[in-house]
Formats: sequence, C-alpha cells, structure tokens
Amino acid sequence: MSEDKKVNGPDLRQGVRTDGIVEGGMLAGHVDNQAVLIARVNDKLYAIDSKCTHYQGPLAEGLVVDHTVRCPWHHACFDLRTGNAIAAPAIDPVTCWVVEEQGGLVFVKARKQDAASPRRSEKVSRRVIIIGGGAAGFAAAEMLRREGFGGDLTLLSADSDAPYDRPNCSKDYLSGGAPKEWMPLRDRAFYKDNKIDLRVNAVVASFDPKRRTVSIKNGNVLPYDVLILATGAEPQRPPIPGLDGANVFTLRTLKDADSIIAAAEKAKHAAVIGASFIGLEVAAALRQRGLDVHVIAPETIPLEKIMGHDIGNWIKGVHERKGVIFHLGREVLGYADGKVTMDHGDPIAADLVVVGSVVKPRVDLAEAAGLKVDDGVIVDNHLKTSADDVYAAGDIARYPDPVSGHLIRVEHWVHAERQGQYLARQILGEDKPFDDPPFFWSSHYDKTVNYSGHAITFDRPQLQGSLIKEDVIVRFYEEPRLLAVATVGRDLANLEAERAFAAKK
Ligand SMILES: Cc1cc2nc3c(=O)[nH]c(=O)nc-3n(C[C@H](O)[C@H](O)[C@H](O)COP(=O)(O)OP(=O)(O)OC[C@H]3O[C@@H](n4cnc5c(N)ncnc54)[C@H](O)[C@@H]3O)c2cc1C
Repeated sequence: MSEDKKVNGPDLRQGVRTDGIVEGGMLAGHVDNQAVLIARVNDKLYAIDSKCTHYQGPLAEGLVVDHTVRCPWHHACFDLRTGNAIAAPAIDPVTCWVVEEQGGLVFVKARKQDAASPRRSEKVSRRVIIIGGGAAGFAAAEMLRREGFGGDLTLLSADSDAPYDRPNCSKDYLSGGAPKEWMPLRDRAFYKDNKIDLRVNAVVASFDPKRRTVSIKNGNVLPYDVLILATGAEPQRPPIPGLDGANVFTLRTLKDADSIIAAAEKAKHAAVIGASFIGLEVAAALRQRGLDVHVIAPETIPLEKIMGHDIGNWIKGVHERKGVIFHLGREVLGYADGKVTMDHGDPIAADLVVVGSVVKPRVDLAEAAGLKVDDGVIVDNHLKTSADDVYAAGDIARYPDPVSGHLIRVEHWVHAERQGQYLARQILGEDKPFDDPPFFWSSHYDKTVNYSGHAITFDRPQLQGSLIKEDVIVRFYEEPRLLAVATVGRDLANLEAERAFAAKK
C-alpha cells in the first residue's frame, strides 16, 4: 500500500508521439515525479494519475472501457474525464491533467483545475438509515453524500470501530505488515463534515417496515423513509468440544484481528481449522509472524470447490513452501489442554486456534420483520426486498444473477461496496437493474488470485497457461455457459473477463 515514488516511461513534459497511443489504449509516463497515463477514447486523449487510489495499483496496466480505466489489481474504476472513482474499491479520485497536442506530439505539463463534479440536487428531504457499517453500508453512505443526497443519513454499526478495510484483517494487518492507520476507510472528521450520523456500538434490535422505524438495543427508535440492510455475515464455530473456549478465535472484525494478534504474540503453535480463503490467509499471516502453523480441513484439496483442482493444489503448495503443515481429509474432534485432536493422526499442539470455516448471512432482523428470507434476504434486480422502501446489499443480499439466471448471494468486498454504491444512485433517482459481475481477490504471502463471475457449481474448469510460471487463467463452465474465471499473474485477462460478463447481462 505504500506509495512507490519510482516512475517509469517517458517524460510527458517532453512529449510523446500521438500515434503511439491507439484507440482504447494507454501509455504510461510521468510528469516530474508523478506517474501519469494517457489514454485514447473516441479519438480524444485524456491524462490522469496512473496510481490507483485504493492500493496504488498501476492503472496503465489495466483496461480502458468506454470512458473509464479499470485497475488491474482490484478492479477499481475511474472516469477518465473527471478522475472520479466511480466504482469501488477506490473511493478517492485521481488527478486529471491537461493534454496538449502539437505537431504529432502530445504533452502533459499541468494538472487540471478541480472541476466541481455535477451533483444531483435533492428536492425531497428523506431520511435514509443504513444498518451495517461494513463494505456495503459505508459505500452507500459515502456515495449518497458524494452524489449530493441532502436528507438525513444515519449509519448504524454494531462494530466498535468506524468502517475499515475488512479484507486487510486477514492480510497485511494480521501479519504485521500494515499499521493500524491504514485500516479506517475514512477518518472520523469525514462523517462529521458530510453529516453522516455514524453510530458505532449501535446494535439494531429490530425494525418495523409498517411504522418505518428502527429500534436500537439502547432503546432509541429512529424513523426512516428508506432503509438499507447491510448486516454482513457471521463466522460460525462448529459445535466441537473446546472450540468455544479460550485461545480459540474467529475472524470478522478488526477487534477479532487485534485479539488474534495479541494471542499470536504469546503463542508458538497455531492451528487453523478450515482451509477457506480466510483460513489460509490467516495461516500465511501467522507464518509471517513466525508461528508453526497447521491447517486442518475435511477436504483433500483446499478451495477446490471454488477454484478447481489445479489452483487449489497450487495454493496448497504455496503454503507448504512457506512451512504450513496441512492435515487434509481430517475432521476435528476437539480442542483441550493445548491440543487439537482429529479423527486420524496424532493430536496437534496449538496455543492458538483460529476457526476459518463457514459464515452465515446475518438475516435475523429481516426475518423478524417478516421479509422474504431464504439463505439471505431475497431481493429483486434492483436490490429491493419484499418490504416497501427496504433494500439489502452485500453478504446478506440474494439477488438474480443476470449471467447464470440463478439467485445468488456473494461474499466479496468489492461486490458489497458496489451494491452499496448502486443503492445510493438508485435512491437518487437512477433506474437500472444491478448487473455488476462479482469480483474478488485473495492474497497468500506475495501471491494473489483474482476471480470474476460466479460459479456455484461448474462442469469442468479449463486451464490455460502454467501455474508453475504463475501465469494462468482457469475458466469455469456450466455447459455451454462460461460462469467465472480465476487468474494468477493475468490481471488484464481477469479485467477482460469481467467486462465480458458485464456485456452478457
Ligand atoms: C478477514 C476477512 C478477509 C476478507 N478478505 C476478502 C478479500 O480478500 N476479498 C474479498 O472480495 N472479500 C473478502 N472478505 C469478504 C468481505 O469482507 C465481505 O464480503 C464484505 O465485508 C461484506 O460486506 P457487507 O457490508 O455485506 O458486510 P460487513 O462488511 O461484514 O459489514 C456488516 C456490518 O453490519 C453490522 N451489523 C451486523 N448486525 C448488526 C446489527 N444488528 N445492528 C447494527 N449493525 C449490525 C456489522 O457490525 C458491520 O458493521 C473478507 C472478509 C473477512 C472477514
């Protein structure tokens, strides 16, 4: 995440040949110490900063789609004309630069003056309440204000921290590579300045869709005109003796990450139960902290159900080369006296246990309010629930997938943020179905897997490239349809797949 001051490519002050930038293409260069890209769209040239404002990804290695550029790392999307971050995970804009063409050359020398972004003006003052201060809830609140929402806006979160970078809780933050200052999505002043009534430690007890009220556990009752449910998912502890005891953790919140870090500082041996993405990211973080790490899981190949056999085995190998010991095809029977016992094999010494198995959508509030719920809150293609003016977004929302036609529920950071941003724009009058293809990434040490689309099941994964060279795309089909792709070392192919899924909607 740290800013890389090294700049590559030509000095754009000196000019570059105009005909070297093809339609839909980009050229990476610099102006002084600032990395800047030039892109051509509809025969017009645009110049913007070429570092993504999310994690500083190299935008010039991404993809131009219409008047946007997409980041190759986590698919943030910027408008080339305004620099605005129009789709998550980036929130902050990039700077736009003035482009001058002369004698077959293009020069970039000066930053554009900030153009005030056009805002919709709200004629009716409405009260929006968002339950959930995670990916979807934060993104909805931020976009509502960014797009000029003028009504009352309340963001209620059961969490003790203001919205933060949840994916980092199992990655650099957990391994010790990222300081706490990196974690908040915005500082406290942002909420005050933008009149977002953020209430942390505010556990909602219920809501009443007829009276249009939300009741907080502390006794406060708040009226709403529009309600967004974004309560996320809850990690489950399997009913195994000892897994509810001391030194056993699940990981969902920043506080959970802090508890694991505190325990890891005193521990030598860790057991991770469940070879899920989060389980394996935790294993990587704990290895980076110098602990012995054992991963125990019932499946024989980690992540095979989602990523297929080849990528599953590759990720296993990545961890083994770092010293993680796998106990696959094993059931955990219990944890007592510092030892995890399994159905086969010797007990494993562990003074720290992390359960990284399944999560469940938090649907209790919706269920109690009489909303349609079935493995998630059922919503239509506008993310509307079965109650008037109540919407759902993020891990709890089960919505019709325009690619497969199935009702799907997706548990990804960027997708949850994009659903939140979508709802903000809907509330402000936009009217189109939600059709963003899902995207997620997972990081293990210095390796990253990207995944676009959504395949609940697939007939066969089709691999192209080489995992040994870490240059691969795996396509997941439900014949005859392509439902998803996973890539290692092929970020551009992943962006192209995302674009193709979006076009199929
Ligand atoms: C450790 C970790 C690492 C991850 N890494 C990745 C990754 O690398 N890539 C990826 O794509 N995805 C990742 N994910 C998944 C991603 O974070 C989630 O899909 C995303 O956060 C879902 O957003 P959400 O808004 O639905 O829920 P959340 O972000 O979980 O937010 C839910 C919010 O609702 C609040 N809440 C719940 N109940 C109540 C209540 N009754 N009253 C008030 N507030 C309530 C919670 O306090 C919280 O603020 C990771 C998840 C975890 C836990």
